[in-house]
Amino acid sequence: MTMSGADMPYSEMVECYRIMESTTKRGELTDALVSLFRKTPIDIIDKVIYLNQGKLYPDYMGIEVGVGEKLAIRAISQASGIDSKKVEELYRRLGDLGSAAEEVLRERVQTSLFSKQLTVVQVYDTLDKIARTSGEGSLDTRLSLLSGLLVNSKPEEAKYIIRTAIGKLRLGVADYTALDALAIAFTRDKSNRAELERAYNLCSDLGLVASTVAARGVGGLRAFKVEVGKPIRPMLAERLPSSSDIIKKLGGRCSAEYKFDGERMQIHKNGRQVVIFSRRLERITNNYPDAVRLAEDSISAETAILECEAVAVDSETGDLLPFQQLMHRRRKYGIEEAMQTIPISLFFFDLLMVNGKDMTRVRYTERRKELQKVVIVGEHTKVAPAKLITSPRTMDRYMEEAIQAGCEGLMVKDLKGTYQAGSRGFLWIKLKREYRSELTDTLDLVVVGGFHGRGRRTGVYGAFLLAVYNEDDDVFESVSKVGTGFSDADLERFHKELKDLVLPQRSPRVKSTMKADVWFVPKLVVEVIASEVTLSPIHVAGWGKVRKNSGLALRFPKFTGKVRDDKSPEEATTTKELVEMYRMQLKKVEETRESSA
Ligand code: AMP
Repeated sequence: MTMSGADMPYSEMVECYRIMESTTKRGELTDALVSLFRKTPIDIIDKVIYLNQGKLYPDYMGIEVGVGEKLAIRAISQASGIDSKKVEELYRRLGDLGSAAEEVLRERVQTSLFSKQLTVVQVYDTLDKIARTSGEGSLDTRLSLLSGLLVNSKPEEAKYIIRTAIGKLRLGVADYTALDALAIAFTRDKSNRAELERAYNLCSDLGLVASTVAARGVGGLRAFKVEVGKPIRPMLAERLPSSSDIIKKLGGRCSAEYKFDGERMQIHKNGRQVVIFSRRLERITNNYPDAVRLAEDSISAETAILECEAVAVDSETGDLLPFQQLMHRRRKYGIEEAMQTIPISLFFFDLLMVNGKDMTRVRYTERRKELQKVVIVGEHTKVAPAKLITSPRTMDRYMEEAIQAGCEGLMVKDLKGTYQAGSRGFLWIKLKREYRSELTDTLDLVVVGGFHGRGRRTGVYGAFLLAVYNEDDDVFESVSKVGTGFSDADLERFHKELKDLVLPQRSPRVKSTMKADVWFVPKLVVEVIASEVTLSPIHVAGWGKVRKNSGLALRFPKFTGKVRDDKSPEEATTTKELVEMYRMQLKKVEETRESSA
């Protein structure tokens, strides 16, 4: 056998596969891997690692061998000289194309005696060529590459090559078993697994971790840094039931950030190039050309890795929309159209690397300070609002504010916490309103103010300030700003109808701390649905009736399309009814809690 450069017979891998297939005991699996890794030349350890997992590259690269079964059957037939119908039959009988290839190739045992010994690099490079060959006329090239490989392989080797080519190796080596084996093989101490794991969490590339530890040992791992272009496994949050639990856990002082309800993005900027990874580390750059543009405009550093939440916003009012809208955007529209209909805003919440400096070991307060320097705030790019919190009361109030702004709740962070890639711990704790109940009732609300429209809504009102009726004081109390659910025709109609109701200032019968662009005589009644009634520091409906210094408002309000011409403003939903709705909701929450306890 002649091998140029670092290489090893593919049969060594096959031997390991054989053991891995025959045992489910973790210890035996690890031993088999350790002995394979020890035999492997350093220069090809990454290839061995990928092949072992039935891959050619780390997942985030999105490159698969991608051979279809039909093509594989033709390749087996070509390599063996046996009719593809017969190969197919065998496949049907055995239920596994790899085993079919093995059996077929046993029949041409004679020729295989003369074939050369297959090497790992040959297998890897050929599969890689197949993966990279696409387009017209590529089928024949792929076919001849694969059959060429099979001609030179022993029957058992063919079994694994076929399984790898069609993406069905499935030997069940978890990343963590491989990390254990790497620790033993290259550092002789399993306890170094933690260092390997840390490196893996920072780059999501097992091959790179393997070549680092193989070449430079534990020292190499300790020096491991995040790198632009390689996704970092995201840090995750724990949960606790209440603000006081959280404050206690975090030692009396912490930072609460708005928890946005959108899609997490990890944005890598390298000069002019921007790559976006999803929470599951898939490349989603092409799904979000608008996020790419926003990132280009808002990240001032030359190279940086940032995390943000992308949230759908109402194109006219700028209000945040629920998460479902973002999913809608993926399914329903073409990307160009989606960017128009459902634009997004980015709310940045972490900075993991800036101009080559690894920030993951830096404490939260420092990262946040740097983040604020790096992000250029614009209409659609913001840093997630945060507040230093030392008491449960301020946290509860901040939570209400966040919900009012369309957020899910708070993400509370340890001031000294580093960024712990890939792990869930108490350095981040989420506080959400758990048992949210959809309001089934609609509300009839009075239009008391208007906000000038922007974009397509220029010239008409883009959103309205709505109020409930307080029958005790005979006033209208603001409860919500609504800009969702209106068709263009609705807006035209409202603009016309409200012309005669415009006032030079707020009517004395209207109570509101929110300032509208234009005030109206309270007259027009519209029907609205919402996901829930929430406490509010901004709207004055039912002020102090449920809680001191707090009013009530609606979360995710939406015009149903119905104008209640049949109702006078005094027949609109009353403050009392609104308070009752809030109490009912709480009761439902208690019941759900009890029944699930
Ligand atoms: P959950 O998915 O409920 O476990 O909550 C964690 C998710 O909240 C993260 O993966 C982010 O997508 C999202 N998130 C929203 N706002 C923030 C924030 N300010 N800090 C961290 N994560 C946030």
